[in-house]
Amino acid sequence: MTEVQSVLVIDDEKINLKIISDILSDEVSIMLAKSGEQGIRKAIEYKPDLILLDVLMPEMDGFETMSRLRHDVRTSAIPVIFITALNDSSHEEKALLMGASDYIQKPLHTNIVQARVRLHLQLVQQRKMLEQLANIDPLTSLANRRKYQEVFELAWRATVKNSDCLSLLVIDIDNFKQYNDCYGHATGDKVLKQVANVLADQVSDSGLVARYGGEEFVVLLSSHSKEASVEIAYRCMQGIEALNLAYNHNDFNGKVTVSIGGATKYPTKNCNSDDIFKVADDMLGLAKKSGKNKLLWKLIDDFQAVAK
Ligand code: GH3
Ligand code: MG
Ligand code: MG
Repeated sequence: MTEVQSVLVIDDEKINLKIISDILSDEVSIMLAKSGEQGIRKAIEYKPDLILLDVLMPEMDGFETMSRLRHDVRTSAIPVIFITALNDSSHEEKALLMGASDYIQKPLHTNIVQARVRLHLQLVQQRKMLEQLANIDPLTSLANRRKYQEVFELAWRATVKNSDCLSLLVIDIDNFKQYNDCYGHATGDKVLKQVANVLADQVSDSGLVARYGGEEFVVLLSSHSKEASVEIAYRCMQGIEALNLAYNHNDFNGKVTVSIGGATKYPTKNCNSDDIFKVADDMLGLAKKSGKNKLLWKLIDDFQAVAK
């Protein structure tokens, strides 16, 4: 089922808010704001799919409102259609140059407003679908490596800024090449999906789980100490063991298992954001070398040197 899309209408005149609501409310969920200030607050809070913005408003006009929406990362991607009684092409040009998606002249014609809003909402939907395709791993529905990198960079910056810590788990299914050889690629795919589901369940809102590639996953845990992260890592291992996925080949533990390398880092301003992945990956390598189905962790303690 397609979800109902939302439109925020910002206009200082009640009658205009009512007219636009009446025109659109059968098709979309409508939010109303009677000033630029209120509109910006609602845009940040509710993240509408589209904004209809009046140009002439006291205090903050449509152009200033638009400028503030564009300069805030929380609202900068929301498309804006200007609505105005001004019959002046320089205003229309200014709006479009500021990044407006469209410009509708008053008096409002129901069919034109509906058609234009529909068109822009369709574009929003298409953009969301493309974003999904670009960020989601199709087999497991987890975030993909590209999404992980994006989230990691943001998390890293926030961690440095707040003098906080960050933990990372690199998780790899043990002996998976032979599992595929033994049970077939399709069964291997099912295992990948089941493992992904366990990771998503166990990590839940605590962090981001992504398929890093092949049979390797990463879990990013912002503001999680070593102890808190190790607990999550153990839960992931136990959850995967509890799937009881038989693996009766060469006595590989009798069931599907994973090895996990983890690292917790208190970053400093000049330290390298790649360090934490490298350390967690090295820990994974050691876990593999020391018999697999293991969790190894390292606390990278730059923090002590700086803060204490
Ligand atoms: P280790 O315990 O050291 O990790 O050994 P391994 O066999 O798991 O590791 P290796 O890197 O040698 O092989 C990984 C295997 O994962 C090879 C490949 O067939 C399998 N694999 C990667 N992606 C997929 C996938 O999308 N589906 C399936 N079924 N298998 C995959
Ligand atoms: Mg007005
Ligand atoms: Mg493996």
